[in-house]
Amino acid sequence: MIGVGKSLREMSPAMRKVLHFDSPREKYRCDASVVSCFDDRFDAVCRKLLKRIGVVQPDAIRIAGGAKALASPEEEIHRAFVLEQIRKSIRLHGSGRAVLMLHSDCGAYGGLAARFRGDADAEAAHCRAELGRASEFLRAAVPGLTVECFFLNFEGAWVVESPPSRSA
Ligand SMILES: [Zn+2]
Repeated sequence: MIGVGKSLREMSPAMRKVLHFDSPREKYRCDASVVSCFDDRFDAVCRKLLKRIGVVQPDAIRIAGGAKALASPEEEIHRAFVLEQIRKSIRLHGSGRAVLMLHSDCGAYGGLAARFRGDADAEAAHCRAELGRASEFLRAAVPGLTVECFFLNFEGAWVVESPPSRSA
């Protein structure tokens, strides 16, 4: 059902409905803009963590490497793109909170075995430093934004205390 005279079928005959589902029409205020990797192995722990920290309605920005794009992007345009996505989430859905995530064995960093020779501590330390860089960049770019950083591994989720921003 749509709210105009013509049916969707009349407007675009090339589209065929394959599923009926009533999505909520109300605009929402998001609890946080969440930058994470699309690696599906960490999808469940990511959702559980968000629930634990009170993020019920996230604006999910899921890209290969997650917060790596803000910390050490392969191309500078990746950082600009993610920053713009966060700005849009703030503008459209009023979020004042950003959650940045990295995870163990991420292909964007070359993987736990290949890049860190299976050394989980070295990988965690590297990710912690990366999250510090990502958070520092984001807090400088969007003053007043609350930025929280997390590292996900095969055992759970770890909060990374962010260093104070330069201006603070
Ligand atoms: Zn990944």
